[in-house]
Amino acid sequence: MLTLCELHIATQTKIDCRVWLRRNRLLPVNMTCPWCNSVMEECQYSRVSDGVIWRCPAKQCRVTVSVWKGSLFENPLPLTKLCELLRWWRHSSRHCRHSIWVFGGVELGMDQFFMVLVLHRDANTLMPLIQCHIHPGTRIRSDEWAAYARLNQVGYIHKTSTIPSTTWIW
Ligand SMILES: [Zn+2]
Repeated sequence: MLTLCELHIATQTKIDCRVWLRRNRLLPVNMTCPWCNSVMEECQYSRVSDGVIWRCPAKQCRVTVSVWKGSLFENPLPLTKLCELLRWWRHSSRHCRHSIWVFGGVELGMDQFFMVLVLHRDANTLMPLIQCHIHPGTRIRSDEWAAYARLNQVGYIHKTSTIPSTTWIW
């Protein structure tokens, strides 16, 4: 199973990331042209941040699509997909020598979120991450994990709530 260190090594470059995502079935390996059903080819394309796109090889077509098409990264990530991703992370890290936790937050109604891989879930680990990613004064809703106990003391409006276990990931 994957350790955090191995994950960093496996995803150092854009190419490494695509290989790793495809190996873990998070990114399509093949793409069919949405216009003519030809098998598309992955091509270098400097105008996109990823540096590659899928291109239809048919001369009369040449349609291009993002390498993220068909993946859960294609559109802004809906919360249901985010939950799937986090569940997958948790499952895949369960048997690691060192457990890897995904710590994150979601801005309700905005589809904005952050996710960070962490080795520990204590306040010393999580508080700096919260202060880095969440503006002071923000209302934060979480479970009753002890690491969040001081949120009100450091400038947040913290409420705890019971979240059904089927949707509680970390
Ligand atoms: Zn085509």
